[in-house]
Amino acid sequence: MQPTPANLSLEQLALLVNALPDPVFILTRSGRYAGIFGGTDLRYYHDGSALVGKQLHEVLVQEKADWFCQQIAQALAQQQLHIVEYGLGGRDVKGLEDGPDGRIWFEGRVQALPFLVACEEAVLWVASNITERHELETRLRHYCDTDELTGLYSRRRLMQALNEHFADFQRSAIPCSLLLFDIDHFKHINDDYGHQQGDQALQLAAKLCRQQLRPADICARLGGDEFVVLMAHTPPDLAMAVAERVRIQLAKGLKAQLSLAQGGSISGGLTAFGSGDSCSETVLKRADDALYEAKRTGRNRIVRADAPEQRQIR
Ligand code: GH3
Ligand code: MG
Repeated sequence: MQPTPANLSLEQLALLVNALPDPVFILTRSGRYAGIFGGTDLRYYHDGSALVGKQLHEVLVQEKADWFCQQIAQALAQQQLHIVEYGLGGRDVKGLEDGPDGRIWFEGRVQALPFLVACEEAVLWVASNITERHELETRLRHYCDTDELTGLYSRRRLMQALNEHFADFQRSAIPCSLLLFDIDHFKHINDDYGHQQGDQALQLAAKLCRQQLRPADICARLGGDEFVVLMAHTPPDLAMAVAERVRIQLAKGLKAQLSLAQGGSISGGLTAFGSGDSCSETVLKRADDALYEAKRTGRNRIVRADAPEQRQIR
């Protein structure tokens, strides 16, 4: 028999494994908890010894237990370290239907064992509680994805959504329209009423715009007084009607609610994804050109710029 590391006795080795701060499970291919070691960090873990001998499906709801079994199968097939991230809430654990609503998040490091456990293939599953890190990541993501002033999507999140919708469009050709709009003479609102009133105008513009949209439509503030509305599953004729509604309601609402003597109207450029477009930036550029045209030709209007192949059909 090979000497144990650091010349520890088997008894000492067992104590050492049991002293591990994170719990280490031995899980078999059929989803049986064959053993559990460690988990001594009581800030994060309860004693899991009652699990030994049970099946995952006895402990967890079907969907979760199936997921664990899939991960075990994957680690066994790969024969290399398999890392997964998962959340467990009170409703995932059987008999705990009234458990806490908050999820506990784990990173699981799953490694196939080079021997059978009670005649079955098995893995070592090290579970680390990463709830704090996960919550921090969620907060950071929300911070990056949200425009602080208006609560709308940020430019970063919009570009991500735009790329995703463009990829969908290339696969499915389901129409998707995009409106880019900008408040007319916004500098005058800042100059005449102050920056704070200017900020309120931006917040109100965001709120009024959202009121005209369906929940699935995406609304973002690109920066300054420039906004984008992304309307999936919407052909340009329908989107034009939405854009006109946004234009009329914003002009009315901004003027009335902020008691503006003049101004408060918006100009917009509307376009749709076309099969001739190579990337989402091309679409955004077309809407930007149309917005410029709306400004050039007198403001308080929406200019529509169809994608190249739509022009050919006419
Ligand atoms: P146009 O009709 O051509 O759009 O003219 P405009 O005066 O609206 O000019 P433009 O859109 O180029 O200027 C936007 C202004 O918005 C410039 C900047 O001072 C102001 N601005 C940018 N970000 C903010 C903000 O967060 N709050 C406020 N209050 N003003 C902002
Ligand atoms: Mg402007």
